[in-house]
Amino acid sequence: MAAYAPVSGCQNNNGMRLTFIGSGDAFGSGGRFNTCFMVRGRRSCFLIDCGATSLIALKRAAVDLDALDGVILTHLHGDHFGGLPFLLLDAQLMSKRRRPFFIWGPDGFKARLAALREALFPGSSTVALKFAIETAILRAGIRHQSGGIAVTPYLAVHSAGSPCFALRVECDGKIITYSGDTAWTETLIDAGRGADLFICECSSFDRDLPGHLSWRTLAAKLPSIGARRVVLTHMNPDMLAQAESFDVETASDGLTLAV
Ligand SMILES: [Zn+2]
Repeated sequence: MAAYAPVSGCQNNNGMRLTFIGSGDAFGSGGRFNTCFMVRGRRSCFLIDCGATSLIALKRAAVDLDALDGVILTHLHGDHFGGLPFLLLDAQLMSKRRRPFFIWGPDGFKARLAALREALFPGSSTVALKFAIETAILRAGIRHQSGGIAVTPYLAVHSAGSPCFALRVECDGKIITYSGDTAWTETLIDAGRGADLFICECSSFDRDLPGHLSWRTLAAKLPSIGARRVVLTHMNPDMLAQAESFDVETASDGLTLAV
């Protein structure tokens, strides 16, 4: 596994940075951690998704967890939100967090998260935390803004028992779009139009899996999106093996980009 450069501090005054804390799929393909991206701006530092392995990945990257303001969730699959019970437990018992932590996610996330916390650590969902959790329900097409961050969710074609989103995130005058998990949908054109960074799932090389994108499909559509920079993530072994043979940027765990 590649050595990590520790991510010191959180907020970044030298322009926005995005770090791929985890760039893997649900199956641990390539030995990669589940999906989790960290965005560091001038005034805010937050995660996009927090998969089951994300607490380990955040600690491997030496992230100051107390400096995180919160997390924005694309959808409620374990490899995208399953790390939250661990993160919250660490905040309560290890880092002794006192600052509020925001969680923005699709309708139903509060009940799903409570059930997950209770299943993994009985009693944890009802114990009084020493910090506030500030929640917001994201709805397709409705821009949510708070604390210098704005996010517009776009409906994805994916199935997770609740709405699944691609997210268009605005912060520090930059636009980061993340597809979440999705089959091809025209909403990705609106979500990613002109984005400074478009992170797109690309689960497979040439065969479209249900609810996911292949490179064959995505490559034909990218010109219609017109993002300034495209980075692929969430790749299966077949895609990981082939991505090096063609001209496309791919994510890797620990990779930091200037946005
Ligand atoms: Zn998913």
